[in-house]
Amino acid sequence: MRWRGGISAASEAPKEARLAARVKTHYFSSFNMPRSCVVCGNPPGQGMSWKVSGSKSNWSGKQTSTLSLEFPLCEECHAVRRGLVHRCVRVSGFKTPGLFDKQGWIVFNFENPSFAAEFSTMNLGVAV
Ligand SMILES: [Zn+2]
Repeated sequence: MRWRGGISAASEAPKEARLAARVKTHYFSSFNMPRSCVVCGNPPGQGMSWKVSGSKSNWSGKQTSTLSLEFPLCEECHAVRRGLVHRCVRVSGFKTPGLFDKQGWIVFNFENPSFAAEFSTMNLGVAV
């Protein structure tokens, strides 16, 4: 999907009109990233990325788990689309691998359905 020329229209669109895609993957220490901008799908700029982090506390509230990931960003989004970039991807929930089950998971919320599909395929994710 291209946002060319439609930046203000896109940001004024009602929330429910925008497509979002939820993807669940295992809790990997590193992810395979598609070679495209997480916001618009253009080729990513050299060394440009958008850092996304999530955190949560355990039952006692004393221990906090955090995770952070960097998604590719194109030059245009890096330069002029900060509003869109800020909401292009969110970590909506995660579980760190446990002592016994050893299986953690992360749920991502993407604004760009095609990036979500590609990311999901590359990281054995499932749509949720
Ligand atoms: Zn972009």
